[in-house]
Amino acid sequence: MGLVKTKAAKANDTPQEKYLVKRCPNCHINLPVDATRCYSCKTRVGKVDRHGKAKKKINWYSYVACIVSWGVFIFYLKWAFF
Ligand SMILES: [Zn+2]
Repeated sequence: MGLVKTKAAKANDTPQEKYLVKRCPNCHINLPVDATRCYSCKTRVGKVDRHGKAKKKINWYSYVACIVSWGVFIFYLKWAFF
C-alpha cells in the first residue's frame, strides 16, 4: 500500500504542479507558472524547472540567421576570390 502511494505521488510530482510561480531566468522576478513571456524584461520563458526557475527558451531564429549569414559569407568569398 505504502509503495503504491509513493509511486502515485512521484508520478504527480511534476514541477509544473508543484510551483504556483516561476522565476524569470533573466531578471529573477516571479511570473505565473503558465506565463510564456516575462512581463518585465520581455524574455521568452519556458517551463518551470525543479528549482522553481523558468527555463530559457532556445531562440531558433537566431541560430538560423547565423547559419544563413555564414553561408552567404562563404559563398561570397568563393565568388570573389576563387
Ligand atoms: Zn524577466
